[in-house]
Amino acid sequence: MDKPAKDRTAPHPTATDPRWRHVLARDKTADGAFWYSVATTGIYCRPSCPSRAANPDHVTLHDSLDDARATGFRACKRCNPEGLSADASHAAIIAKACRLIEHSETSLSLADLADAVELSPSYFHRLFKSTTGVTPKAYAAAHRVARLRDGLDKAGSVTQAIYAAGFNSNGRFYEQASDILGMTPTRYKAGGRDEEICFAIAQCSLGAILVASSAKGVVSILLGDDANALAEDLQDRFPQAHLVGGDADYDRLVARVVGLVEAPKLGLDLPLDVRGTAFQQRVWQALRDIPAGRTLSYRDIAERIGAPKAVRAVAGACAANHIAIAIPCHRVVRNDGALSGYAWGVERKRELLRREDAA
Ligand SMILES: [Zn+2]
Repeated sequence: MDKPAKDRTAPHPTATDPRWRHVLARDKTADGAFWYSVATTGIYCRPSCPSRAANPDHVTLHDSLDDARATGFRACKRCNPEGLSADASHAAIIAKACRLIEHSETSLSLADLADAVELSPSYFHRLFKSTTGVTPKAYAAAHRVARLRDGLDKAGSVTQAIYAAGFNSNGRFYEQASDILGMTPTRYKAGGRDEEICFAIAQCSLGAILVASSAKGVVSILLGDDANALAEDLQDRFPQAHLVGGDADYDRLVARVVGLVEAPKLGLDLPLDVRGTAFQQRVWQALRDIPAGRTLSYRDIAERIGAPKAVRAVAGACAANHIAIAIPCHRVVRNDGALSGYAWGVERKRELLRREDAA
């Protein structure tokens, strides 16, 4: 095929494309944003590919994986553009470690866990902490508590439940029991209600995020600085439920909720299990009717639900919401338009509103 002669002095468009710098830097954060193919080797890669940098004259940048595939080239074996990115495979490794902790009858040492996922103990510890927000030890402790709750509701005796949960000393457990359960195990067992709440904690750009669901739908989305505090908060809200760690399917739901945090304007059609008084439910429904990028005052909401005098009660219902973002109480401001408080911190509210405006 005849092509017009190229101007040999002009740089190839790839060399001047701002994305090319990400390839040279092997920038992991660019993974998923674009791909590149190399004509001389007949492969396509993700931006972070560790292989030797190609001559930009031979490189084409692609906006989509489909576009890269359409070259007819093969996927690079080193960076595996068709598989999980390094970050996603780290997440998979950490998820595996979490499952090991959850299913182990005994407490696993850091060395055991690191060995099981084929990482060095120090690297594993760092990766676990950066992925989950807690250390493996704290995660195991939180899980033992969840198992204990579970066991107390099922097992024959309190002592059996304590041993089954991996607490090896009855005495030590009783010392901590009131902190952990908010009541003695015997009382807890008597009052245990047969409901399972599944939860997982992840990190998002606003800090730690906890998502919890009943069989009917999402019951809580909590935001905070500290993953352990979120887990405690959930326990306080559902003192009678069995709290169980989410499985891989649940992690996908959590990933979608994290996506909602990053781009609240996109919305997310999540099944919610909304629990509150009839009045709270009316307020929360009115909140869900506020489109992204808009704000209303407490007075506006009071009028919308046909209770114009109940401004204070509306503010109370907004504060009592515990499904952050999906019930967008961040879209309610003071009557004078000023930013009012937010259960998860006014800075997070400001940032969510900024994202909805900016998008
Ligand atoms: Zn590659």
